[in-house]
Amino acid sequence: VGGAGLPVQGEPGLPGGSSTGGQPVLAVVGRPNVGKSTLVNRILGRRAAIIEDVPGVTRDRVAYDAVWNGRRFTVVDTGGWEPDARGLAGRVAEQARAAIDTADGVLFVIDATVGATDADEAVARVLHRSGRPVVLAANKVDDARAEADAAALWSLGLGEPYPVSALHGRGSGDLLDAVLAVLPEAPREQFTEEDGPRRVALIGRPNVGKSSLLNKLVGSERSLVDDVAGTTRDPVDELVTVGGETWMFIDTAGLRRRVKEASGAEYYSSLRTAAALEAAEVAIVLLDADEPVTEQDQRIISMVTEAGRALVLAFNKWDLLDTERRLDLEQEIVRDLGRVAWAPRVNISARTGRATDRLAPALRTSLESWGTRIPTGRLNSWLGEIVGATPPPSRSGKIPRVLFATQAGVRPPRFVVFTTGFLEPAYRRFLERKLREDFGFAGTPIEISIRVRE
Ligand code: GDP
Ligand code: GDP
Repeated sequence: VGGAGLPVQGEPGLPGGSSTGGQPVLAVVGRPNVGKSTLVNRILGRRAAIIEDVPGVTRDRVAYDAVWNGRRFTVVDTGGWEPDARGLAGRVAEQARAAIDTADGVLFVIDATVGATDADEAVARVLHRSGRPVVLAANKVDDARAEADAAALWSLGLGEPYPVSALHGRGSGDLLDAVLAVLPEAPREQFTEEDGPRRVALIGRPNVGKSSLLNKLVGSERSLVDDVAGTTRDPVDELVTVGGETWMFIDTAGLRRRVKEASGAEYYSSLRTAAALEAAEVAIVLLDADEPVTEQDQRIISMVTEAGRALVLAFNKWDLLDTERRLDLEQEIVRDLGRVAWAPRVNISARTGRATDRLAPALRTSLESWGTRIPTGRLNSWLGEIVGATPPPSRSGKIPRVLFATQAGVRPPRFVVFTTGFLEPAYRRFLERKLREDFGFAGTPIEISIRVRE
């Protein structure tokens, strides 16, 4: 067991690969560069299949089907984790935290040659609190001399550190035995998707007309439905009928409460926006059409795309626009909103009610795109054509080969492209543009990640 061979064979997912099929889920977490991907590749072997639609698995997490000693389980590969870092690392940290939430067990990977960093210790504290079974992998223990480095990791209080070399395979059999010893036979009860009304976040900077629009929508269709079967209703949310359909508007209480323009108000309103997005499936970002697009508008739009939610842009106060402003706005849209050119736009007036009936169709379009799945066969014949016509640029004399792609998830659509080498960001953007040209995806962000295989 162990050694340099491939201890475990990844197995192809079930046809259609629609769920974990009652398998327990193992989340692999750790800082960037500790060797998580190398270890996951070793656990899976070469024929790793991506499982689609594992509940709660979103963003750059990818789930694989694995088997060890006849037991099947799902491995979820997460991004790196820097608990105290801001920006991108902070977001990745959130993703790892979410991975822990949906996992039945955690494989925490540490670079034993570096030892436990502050970040690792913070992760350890989160793991303690999570109550999930944890196996600690002390990676990069390539030979017996390095085992002392592994022993030092007892200090984390997570039990025995398993020395392993993901690169060479050393110790990986024992590690997997330990993992299966703590992983429960069956997955925990996973949260299931509610069938209730679709959840909408109505967001935008102060004074663009959010509460006016909400009042208009509520007033025009006399809604405020109280009980819809199967919905757990937070009292701050509100059921509103728009376009003959009932929608759950998130945090309407927060919209109605007038926040005083005090210092820090923007900070708190951005926290509230983030929370509403977290709970929502689709966002209406409201903009004041009579004023230039501001940086705050841009930040709010970025929050939507980064949260991976469907998007509708609504330009409000259309009643105030003269011809000159209309022309300026067209230019601003091209210049400032080009990166979300895929989002449906509606030009409305909360005051007069102009075109508010276009909101519901736009919401439906965006939500449909958000849940779209392209069958693997179709995706790959498309990819073959695109890459054949326009291959990726060469890097240090070599042209990376694009092997195949799969759609790893929906809501939003996430694609994983397997290649033999790094793909330039420009080429990824090219692929995204082509995907949109050929498959639509109006109103939804899409994500493309690259997995390099030797
Ligand atoms: P991740 O960011 O945590 O997924 O880390 P990777 O799997 O990409 O590995 C980061 C670097 O560490 C790569 O250069 C790997 O080749 C190297 N690495 C991974 N595992 C080992 C190991 O067991 N021993 C050694 N010496 N290097 C390793
Ligand atoms: P919120 O801060 O985003 O909730 O914005 P409010 O709904 O409080 O609206 C801010 C101001 O814009 C108020 O004075 C509204 O009367 C006004 N307003 C909202 N929608 C429209 C509109 O469509 N046209 C015009 N002319 N004024 C509007």
